[in-house]
Amino acid sequence: MLRGEAVDSLDRLSTLWMLRRDSARDLSRASENHRAIQFVVGGMSRVPEAMQASLPFEIEFDRHVAAIRGGRSGVEVVCHDGAKYRAKHVICTTPPPLTRMIAFDPGLPALHAEAVAFTPFGQGTSVMIPVRERFWEIDGRPGGSWTDNNRLGRVMQLATPEGDYLWAYISGRANMAYRSMDDEGVKASVLAELVRTRPAAEGRLGEAKVVNWSRAPFARGTFARAEPGQVSRFGGVLATPANRRIHFAGEHVSLRASGIEGALESGERAAHDVLTAL
Ligand SMILES: Cc1cc2nc3c(=O)[nH]c(=O)nc-3n(C[C@H](O)[C@H](O)[C@H](O)COP(=O)(O)OP(=O)(O)OC[C@H]3O[C@@H](n4cnc5c(N)ncnc54)[C@H](O)[C@@H]3O)c2cc1C
Repeated sequence: MLRGEAVDSLDRLSTLWMLRRDSARDLSRASENHRAIQFVVGGMSRVPEAMQASLPFEIEFDRHVAAIRGGRSGVEVVCHDGAKYRAKHVICTTPPPLTRMIAFDPGLPALHAEAVAFTPFGQGTSVMIPVRERFWEIDGRPGGSWTDNNRLGRVMQLATPEGDYLWAYISGRANMAYRSMDDEGVKASVLAELVRTRPAAEGRLGEAKVVNWSRAPFARGTFARAEPGQVSRFGGVLATPANRRIHFAGEHVSLRASGIEGALESGERAAHDVLTAL
């Protein structure tokens, strides 16, 4: 089993990429501030919301970018509803599957275009299940489990200020059937398998909530990774501006960190590049 990697097959995974990821984890674990796992009360969205509230201007939401046009004097961003925005530079932070749907005019340089087209993006589905009664205290087994069971994936036991939860996270090959399934189907499948493997859970769970990252229209997956050969072929190219005025940022563009920290690292780098160019 691939330690939770959202990859369908080992031969599609770059060893260099995994070494990079593991060294980032080692650095993080060596940090004085490291604790095994930390949660944000109310959910991770509270962090960008707080960052947004600290800005001296409004952010416009619900703008679905369709095209980015670069000109000599600046860039124009065109939305599906016809709205247009002009600026000297643009920082594009959409995940790779969404960036592939944006029309760049003129087209991106060859290596940028290749990185956008071929950076693989993991697939995964989360099912959050409130626990009304701690069934693991009844059957005497741990609440969480890590299994190659194709319907259940990994189950993590979470104790939150709002109560106990189980988080079933199904990624990679185990997630294949869920990629085209609606939320009710996913929920029914996961709960049935949970109760089959842990009969004590029956009647002790609340209403589950599904986030199917593979079907989420503005995510279309989970994490970027690299296939064999891609690190040396175009690793890092998106961290350089395209057509002088188009900058990329996001988890898939970071050079060192991964996850949210990677998104922040790449965002800081892109902002620095824009400020330097202005
Ligand atoms: C299940 C799961 C668990 C995770 N757990 C952790 C964790 O514990 N720690 C951690 O550090 N990271 C974790 N991550 C990863 C973390 O969520 C991502 O790395 C991070 O959110 C990436 O940030 P981003 O800004 O690159 O992309 P996103 O957060 O995906 O933001 C991209 C934005 O672009 C918008 N967008 C997309 N297309 C368009 C378009 N055409 N026009 C306009 N807007 C568009 C989207 O709506 C979205 O707001 C997890 C991810 C998943 C799926």
